[in-house]
Order: sequence, then C-alpha cells, then structure tokens
Amino acid sequence: MKVLKFGGTSVGSVESILSVKKIVEAEKEPVVVVVSALGGITDKLIKTSKLALAGDLSYQSEFDEIAVRHHQMIEAVIPSGENKERLLETIDALLDELKSIYQGVYLIRDLSPKTSAAIVSYGERLSSNIVAVLIDGAKWFDSRTFIKTEIKSGRQLLASDLTHELVKQAFVDLPKVSLVPGFISTDADSGEVTNLGRGGSDYTASIIAAALDASFLEIWTDVDGFMTADPKVISTAYTINELSYVEAMELCNFGAKVVYPPTIYPVCVKNIPILIKNTFNPSGKGTVIKSDIAEDQKPIKGISSINGTTLITVSGLSMVGVIGVNRRIFSALANNGISVFLVSQASSENSTSIGVRDADADAACEVLNAEFSKEIETGAMYRMTAESGLATVAIVGENMKHTPGIAGKLFGTLGRSGINVIACAQGASETNISFVVDGLFLRKTLNVIHDSFFLSEYQVLNLFLCGVGTVGSSLIAQLAQQSEKLKKERGLKLKVVGIASGHNAMFDREGISLENCREQLAHSAPSDLNRLRDEVIGMNIFNSVFVDCTASSDVAGLYQEFLEHNISVVAANKAAASSDYATYQKLKSTARQRGVKFLFETNVGAGLPIIRTMNDLLNSGDKILKIEAVLSGTLNFIFNKISADVPFSETVRLAKEEGYSEPDPRVDLSGKDVIRKLVILAREAGYRIEQSDVEKHLFVPDSFFRGTLDEFWKNLPSLDADFERRRKVLESEGKRWRFVSRYENGKASVELCEVGREHPFYTLEGSNNIILLTTERYKEYPMQIQGYGAGAGVTAAGVFADIMSIANV
Ligand code: ADP
Ligand code: ASP
Ligand code: MG
Repeated sequence: MKVLKFGGTSVGSVESILSVKKIVEAEKEPVVVVVSALGGITDKLIKTSKLALAGDLSYQSEFDEIAVRHHQMIEAVIPSGENKERLLETIDALLDELKSIYQGVYLIRDLSPKTSAAIVSYGERLSSNIVAVLIDGAKWFDSRTFIKTEIKSGRQLLASDLTHELVKQAFVDLPKVSLVPGFISTDADSGEVTNLGRGGSDYTASIIAAALDASFLEIWTDVDGFMTADPKVISTAYTINELSYVEAMELCNFGAKVVYPPTIYPVCVKNIPILIKNTFNPSGKGTVIKSDIAEDQKPIKGISSINGTTLITVSGLSMVGVIGVNRRIFSALANNGISVFLVSQASSENSTSIGVRDADADAACEVLNAEFSKEIETGAMYRMTAESGLATVAIVGENMKHTPGIAGKLFGTLGRSGINVIACAQGASETNISFVVDGLFLRKTLNVIHDSFFLSEYQVLNLFLCGVGTVGSSLIAQLAQQSEKLKKERGLKLKVVGIASGHNAMFDREGISLENCREQLAHSAPSDLNRLRDEVIGMNIFNSVFVDCTASSDVAGLYQEFLEHNISVVAANKAAASSDYATYQKLKSTARQRGVKFLFETNVGAGLPIIRTMNDLLNSGDKILKIEAVLSGTLNFIFNKISADVPFSETVRLAKEEGYSEPDPRVDLSGKDVIRKLVILAREAGYRIEQSDVEKHLFVPDSFFRGTLDEFWKNLPSLDADFERRRKVLESEGKRWRFVSRYENGKASVELCEVGREHPFYTLEGSNNIILLTTERYKEYPMQIQGYGAGAGVTAAGVFADIMSIANV
C-alpha cells in the first residue's frame, strides 16, 4: 500500500482537484489519501477568528466567503445525485458549527488556543469530505480518532506510540481508497481537537505511512519536486532527482516549505522512500528521498533559508568561569518551548550566539535574562542582546564532507558580493553550513550561492544599461542576438534588469525583454540621476554590472557608489577614467577592494583591445616606454579626405554628416577628445598624468573655439586657402598629415604631424586608429594595434567584451 498526500494547492481549484481524482483512481494498489484544507482556507479561518475576536463584524463576510468557496467547489466537481445531497448536508452541518463558534468568539471576545484549534480543524474536515465523495469508492476516516497529541514542553506534540497503535487498528481492513483529513488530531487525555502545526498534513501522511509500513509516501504539491531552492525566490532553481533523508531533513529544517520538517523522521526510521510530485504535472519525475542515493551527487544539493531570524548573544567577560552556560541556555529555552536553530560559539567562550525565530525573540531574552540574573547582577555576564531583521541560510549536501574548500568558496563569494556574514555554524557532520545575514540581503545571498555553486544550469549576470543612443542601441541589438547562444554554449545568462535613457528608466529583476525595449522605455517612468542611483543600489541584485553608454559626467559620478555596493562598471563613457587622477585611482582601488571590475576598454580605440593588451604586458613584467598613436577617427578621416577637390572645411562637414565627428566637431578639432584618450592610455601604462599635463599643438586657431557653432561653420572656409597651400607642399614631399598623440619620458603631447611613406601611420585608412607601444620587450619593433577606432557596432562589441570578461565563463 501507499500513502498519498495532496496539499492545499492540489485541492485548491477545480482543475487541480480533478487531477487529484485522476491520480488516485489510476492507482492499482490500496492507497491512503491524506488531504489538506482547500488552498488558503487555513489562513482565512485564522483571519476570520481574529476579526471576530476584535469585535469586527466583517468576520461574517469572511465566513460567508469560506462557505461559498466550498459550495462552489462542490457544484463544480460533484455530479448531482444522492451522494451530492448527503455531502451538502455534511458540509452545511460543519459550516453551521463553525459559524456558531465564530459567533461565540465574537460575543465573548475570547479566543483560547483550544477554540483556535477547533476552528482551524474545519479546513481539513470540509475538504476531506468533498474529496471522499469525489473519488470513486473512497472511504472517509476521521483522523481525530487515531492521530493523538500530548503536551510536551508546553506544546501539543505527537503521542507517537499511542498514535502508531491506533493507526494500525483503524486501518486493519484497508479499502481501495481511504480518505483522511491531514493536520488535525486530538489530545490523548481530553479528546479535544488539536493539530500537528502549520503544514502538518505532510506529517499526518508520514505517520500513517510508517504505521502501516507503506511502500511509498507520496507528497503531491504544486512544484515539480524538491528543488535546489525555493522557486518562488530563485527562478533558476530546478528539481533535485534524489535526496538522502539527512539532506531532506536539513533543507526542511531550514525553511524549505515543500515538506513539513517532522515528516521525514517517521518514514526515515522505517526506510520508506518519499516521492515528491506535482499534481499539475503528474508525468514529471519528481524527487525521491531515500537512504541509498546514487553516489555521483553534487557536493551541495540545495539551499534553504529562514527569514525573520533574531540572533541573541549571551556574553560576559567572565563567562569562561561560569559553569554549564550552554546547558543552562538550552534547558531554559527548551523548558519554555523555544526552539533554537543555530548556535555559534567562539572557542574563547566569551559569547554564544543563538538563532531563534523573530516571534520567539522577546520571550527568549526574558527567559535567559531570568536564568542568568545572578551572574548579570554580579557583572560576570551581560544582559542578553538581540539583533533582529536577520535571515538564516543553509547550504546542504552530504558530499560536502568529501569536498574541501566549500566553506572558503562560500564565504569568498559572499564577501565579493558585499554580503556580510553575521554568524555561522557548521557541524562536524559537514552536511550543512548555516550562516546569518541581514534580512535585506537574503534574496541576493540565495541567488549568489545558487549561481556560484553551479546549482543553476547557467550563470547569471544582471545588467543595468544606461544610455540608448547609437552605442547603447547597438549593444541592445547584440545582446538580443547573442543571448540564446551564450546561454546554450557558454552557460551564461545575460539578464538586463534595468534600462535608462536621459529621461526615462525601467527596472525589473526578473529581466526586461529586449524586443521593442526602446519603445517600452519611452513609455516608462521618468527618471533622473537620483532615481537611477536609488534603483540600481536598492535592487541589491547579485552579480550585477552597470553599463554606461552615455557621455555624461553626471552618470560617471555614480560609479564610485556603485562599486562600493559591489556593482561592476563597464563604461564606454570616458568621463570617469579621464577625470582627475585621484578620482580615477579611487575608482580602480575601490573595484579591487570590492572584488568587482571597473572596465573601460572602449574609451580608446572603440573595440580595439588596447587597454587589455597594455594590462597584460604590465602584468607579465613588461614596461611601457613610449606610446604613439592616432586616436581620433574623425581627424584621421579629415586628413585622409582633404585633397585639391575637397577643401578642409568640406572635410569637416563630411565628417559630421557621415557620423564620425561629435555633433559639435570642435570637440574633435580642439583635440579634447584625443587628450582624454591619451591620458587614459598613459594612466593604464602606469603613469600619473592629468589632462592639463598634455601639450597641445592645434591646427585650428583658438578663436574658432570661442564663438557659436554657426559662426564656426561660417568662418571655417577662411582656413581652406592656407590648408590647400600647405597640402600641396606636403603632397610634393610625399607626406601625409596625421594627428598624433605621444607619451614618452613623462611628456605627453598631441599635434598635427607630417609622416612620410616609411612611417606606419602613413597608410592609416579612413577613420581607423593605430597605436604603437614601445616596451622593454617590444623595443626595436613596437607592438602595433590597428583597426576601426569608431562606430557604434564596434564600440558596442567592445562593451560586450568587457561584460563577458566580468562573467569570466
Ligand atoms: P502544499 O500546499 O502542497 O503543502 P506548500 O506551499 O506547503 O504546498 O509547499 C510547496 C511550496 O514550497 C512551493 O510552492 C515552493 O514555493 C515552496 N518551496 C520552498 N522551498 C522549496 C524547495 N526547495 N523546493 C520546492 N519547493 C519549495
Ligand atoms: N491546512 C494546514 C495549513 O495550511 C495544514 C497543511 O496544509 O498541511 O497549515
Ligand atoms: Mg505544505
């Protein structure tokens, strides 16, 4: 025989309850079916009782909703006839009783634990009667007659031996389908209604399975099995095929709600496997929990967590001398029914920290202050301190004990993500490492661990994209095109969780679809710098990268804070890396300290691998002695275009029309852009330099940069004649103009140079860039990097490459 338990969601809707009928009726061997209350009803029963207690008449409408929900279910799933009539009588009688109890609570304004227990019992009593009629040939059993509890440490707990015997007696003759309400029980002495605690239907099923030596205990719920983490928190969680009893017990104890913790023990003792299945997907494999699981298991099987943790610290300078502190702590708490789920004690014995649920915190402090009142009075110990708003996380896996370095990796990963571990504990059995973090960091913590221990099928990098101009848009197109391939082939999921323009911004931690995202953005909430900062930091999302495709120094001003919050920065924007040296240095050192990245490869030479190459040279011990480069695509375009037919002013106009120059070409002609690039290169080569250190020799008189843009365009042709005269001379000498940036011996300069045929810069086509690096190793023949130095596509690709280097897949 088998025991099948169907949870609230499995009997919560017409569709699911009909699925239950199908699953049970397809069984060949006798089954005991345990059901919960219809989904959400237990909560509603409790809420209604609280309203009645508070004298709030709206309890009546809440009650009516409970009644209607059950009637509607019967109407939808039970065919007309005698059975239905009888069922309606039973249900109405139960609802009448319940109504009277609520009335009593309302009138007397008293809700004893006994009355509460009576009220919540109606959930399962109602649902089980409906399912018993729904399933062909099912016989209803009253679990109150054989599931017995008794008071232990102030709580109603299972009276195991008595229950065991009573269950065996109740099911001596096993019908094809026995239908049992879960959760409810009665006190062994008084016979009053009690229950097994919230989520207790799982336990009812397990107790029956153990007493009847079932071949299997099947727990049918609303997910595909026991998953690596709560799928409601971690979207990439997936079903675990097999778990040992120990692993399941550890995960359940730490909040994996899918199985009520006491459920595991009774069946574990009898070596009865538990199968977790999905009522909404009965053909899915589900999860088996048993003793002899396959050996090739991952070291970490799953993660679970308990939000609402309070850490109580018992401390004192002379605690070392106080005898039996730990025994007294635990006895005092146990005698008051307070359970402790984490203990951490340093070997100095000066303090012991214990984790309890928030709800138990005040009582726990009171009990402990009373227990140690004498020591506190003499100063041997301090009063208890409690820190609440925390969360406890556990990583679980029996194979951890065979794998060194798990704790190191765990705490290293958390540190790099800016997550502070407040307390931790690992038992010598090494099946569980648990630790306490700030509750606000829980989601991030779970995601980081899930991701870094490859519990997920792929690694996730969360991206905030700022700027949707030509480069930003091109990047979005490239991300959209590559994302499936990267996921499949590299196990990397690039998830865009925020997009911002200068005016609007949208954020979604579940990911933003890149299709028509620009339109979505145009219709999303207005945004400014403050909102951008608050949202990006406030989302507190793991493995995140802020990608700046703007040219705004205000946006660049946010990097420092982002890095401090462990958010990497990838900038196409030159503003930060070329700003004053101290700012540049601080950004780089913050990134290093926080274990995140600040990358800006596209600041110089668009997608060309210049900065990365320089870093590689330096890291391997080389020294950069000289940098010579043509770094302005616009200027190179201009000096390649200029000819007898195309005068200077016309080349500038063409550069603008063809999108090479900035909207105001004076930014290029003034050498400003090139100077910023040279400064960045020199700094990356290891030299301390400011923009003001760069000598500049311009080819357009200063007066052109002072007036308006219109005046500039009007006056520009006045330079043509002189340029043409000089150009002719240059041509006759077989030379060309190049705007060259140089750094050597601490001296930086930008100037228009004449280069002959033998010079590597002579043949530089179109708007290309070239850079020559003379180093100690590349001395006689400098290293040369050359190619497109501008353009949205190549720049976006360079940004993409920076993003990929952060993913490090
Ligand atoms: P039921 O009503 O069937 O008893 P529960 O709500 O008690 O269902 O338990 C199922 C829920 O447990 C899932 O919907 C899921 O959100 C949650 N859950 C938490 N941790 C896990 C986990 N590790 N694996 C699967 N589900 C989990
Ligand atoms: N109905 C009870 C609850 O919601 C028991 C259960 O569902 O297991 O807690
Ligand atoms: Mg449950």
